[in-house]
Amino acid sequence: MNYFSYKQDDLYCEDLSVAYIAEQIGTPFYLYSYSTIRRHFQVFNNAFKGLDHLTCFSLKSNSNLAILRLLALEGGGADVVSGGELFRALRAGIAPDKIVYSGVGKTPSDMELALKSGILMFNVESDQELQALNGIAENSGSKAMIAIRINPDVELKTHPYIVTGFGESKFGIPIKDSLNTYALAKRLKNIEVKGISCHIGSQLTEIDPFVEALRKLRELYRKLKNMGLDIKFLNLGGGLGITYHDEEPPHPLEYARALRETIGANKFTLILEPGRVIIGNAGILVTRVLYTKSAANKRFIIVDAGMNDLIRPTLYDSFHAVQPVKMAHSDMFTASLVGPICETGDFLAKDRKMPPFKPGDLVAIMSAGAYGFSMASNYNSRPRPAEVLVKGKLFSIIRARETYDDLINGEMIPEFLEKSSV
Ligand SMILES: *Cc1c(COP(=O)(O)O)cnc(C)c1O
Repeated sequence: MNYFSYKQDDLYCEDLSVAYIAEQIGTPFYLYSYSTIRRHFQVFNNAFKGLDHLTCFSLKSNSNLAILRLLALEGGGADVVSGGELFRALRAGIAPDKIVYSGVGKTPSDMELALKSGILMFNVESDQELQALNGIAENSGSKAMIAIRINPDVELKTHPYIVTGFGESKFGIPIKDSLNTYALAKRLKNIEVKGISCHIGSQLTEIDPFVEALRKLRELYRKLKNMGLDIKFLNLGGGLGITYHDEEPPHPLEYARALRETIGANKFTLILEPGRVIIGNAGILVTRVLYTKSAANKRFIIVDAGMNDLIRPTLYDSFHAVQPVKMAHSDMFTASLVGPICETGDFLAKDRKMPPFKPGDLVAIMSAGAYGFSMASNYNSRPRPAEVLVKGKLFSIIRARETYDDLINGEMIPEFLEKSSV
């Protein structure tokens, strides 16, 4: 459930009409619903009530400070994959001892920052990373708490680009090799082994792969126990899918029930790293029609948002529902919604039934809260859109629309190109 719905003919976010916000701030913009984010977090987190657990929101799905603060106030932790994300999580007030740090390419300076900040643990993805982390911890006279991220090799039905825990992905360590890595970790003086982690993929709409992965973690847990390692945390990652179109992903309650059953009586804390399921359907992208045109029997609706603002359709061929901000009550027709970018791949919706949009009409691209703004770029020198958070009748700009000056921030013309020497 979310808080985007029509009142008469007008699309509302909570108690505010989307058209009203567009009039105030212009287009395009990302629009998030406070109540939806909060509700999604609570439903997910409460599904694990009674089970020792920690819900670490995956920052890469959406890392706006205001949204992170909202989740921090709900008691959420964070899953970060870079020093920049760690900086954001800390800045938003997320408790360091609720932050886990994943990623195959952690740099020395990022590891230093994470150690100094006192994060809960590193999800280590290779032997070399483990050695490097040990060295950094030694230099700073501290101990790094770690989990080894393993690749549990479970099969998935999702887009190949977002499958991470199968066969030859670059993520984690194959489960059969992981015992060696754990043995190495045990020998290293400035490493403290705390857990096992995995993240099998994203936008998963079935429970079985999660259960299978968790079974494998449990199996490994027993082996590690026999090696004398005191594993306190099992981290199952994120990946629970949402409805973009007609998918029927499991409800968090079903998901939690299946995990509870699999966990049984083992004594550890379960870490979860949901991203999309919290924020995906809590945000939309609002754009305005600039022009319409027909070519070779195709109809194009050209809007002021493009692949630089929302790259998922281009990158993954993803489906985002297209809805009018004001209902038209006329026949639908087939068209493609495209952006202003100079790339054929610049589309938001391809050959879809949609209302006969006219120039000036506002269009809502639904389910854009996750991997929307966080993947936005300045390609074609387009300032990134504003982000807005609605709570009841209130709206706040939580990220200003970028300006042309923002576009050239940090760029410099060297002296030898100054006018006098040209
Ligand atoms: C991307 C990612 C997540 C979040 O995935 P969702 O599908 O958005 O829930 C969690 N953990 C790790 C390590 C990730 O890379």
